[in-house]
Amino acid sequence: MRTDARFFDGEIARDHAVSLELVPDGLAIGGPEVTPRVWSLAGLAAVAPMRAGYPLRLSHEAFPGARLVITQESFARELVRLVPHLAGGPNLKRAGRLAAIIGASALAAIAVLYLTLSYAPQSLAFILPDSWRKNLGDQVEASFAGDGKLCATSSSNALLRTLSARLMEDNPDAPPFELKVYDLSMLNAFALPGGRIVMTRKLIDAARSADEVAGVLAHEIGHVQHRHAEAQLIRAMGIELLLQIVSGGGDSISGFAGLLAILRFSRDAEREADSYAQDMLVKAAIDPTGLKRFFEELKKLEGKGDSGGLFGTMTDIMSTHPVTDERIDAIKPLPQGVTARPTLNDTDWAGLRKICG
Ligand SMILES: [Zn+2]
Repeated sequence: MRTDARFFDGEIARDHAVSLELVPDGLAIGGPEVTPRVWSLAGLAAVAPMRAGYPLRLSHEAFPGARLVITQESFARELVRLVPHLAGGPNLKRAGRLAAIIGASALAAIAVLYLTLSYAPQSLAFILPDSWRKNLGDQVEASFAGDGKLCATSSSNALLRTLSARLMEDNPDAPPFELKVYDLSMLNAFALPGGRIVMTRKLIDAARSADEVAGVLAHEIGHVQHRHAEAQLIRAMGIELLLQIVSGGGDSISGFAGLLAILRFSRDAEREADSYAQDMLVKAAIDPTGLKRFFEELKKLEGKGDSGGLFGTMTDIMSTHPVTDERIDAIKPLPQGVTARPTLNDTDWAGLRKICG
């Protein structure tokens, strides 16, 4: 019996298409981008209880960072028949490990959280303590921080604070956030857990006005407001995520493959972030058509399939925040009677363009 699946190898930050086959000594994983390997059935664990209509996500005790995602239901069901503990429910062995780490007194609380996180990641994201969210944000940032320079000098930090404060004008209910710029090889912006927002230098290079950057920032603040990053990590990593944060030690999740790839949101999440951005921009009197133009430009460039230069990695942002005509159409200009105020003065905009030197 065989099927196609997605495989995170625990080493590089993206998933691979693989084929899976049940062989006498386990589950054989192969594909053009991975070294063939066999996972023993006894070592398999389900990342979350199996649910109809959802992919089965598996880990293996011998390869802590790696994940397999199986979408074909008949294959997943056959696997669960052979390895009944994959069907879900607390894994006693893992529960024992957890108890040893954090002590039995916290176990009851964790059991409740376990049930909650398996069935309501979005709700759980709102009860995570801020210190846990910050810890998660630190770990996600650590997973890519080595890939490029953090553009942080006292003047660049002051500029980012000016831009952030501009967005917050007349938005007293906006969530706290911290903006950072990295010089990475990709064009993208990310909302990390704990209210941290990362933009890449290439994104700022690609924007033609401060309004466009402000629009993207407002969109990311929408993801922060809805805690999409926290929910998505909980969804993808399940109880192991809690184990990592609560134990505060052991393997860092920053070694987990595909952390940034995981921060890929659903269409509903994208719509929520867009609608938040629209409101925020109108309140701050920043013209939302900047965001519209930026999205239109991304969409055009993606169609060209340019494979080099600045826009060679243009599709990065499309893969984590896919832009559709529906999303572009939903962005409206400032309403009658609201006069746009500039996002930044010319000096600050020129400074932002040179933020990474
Ligand atoms: Zn988004």
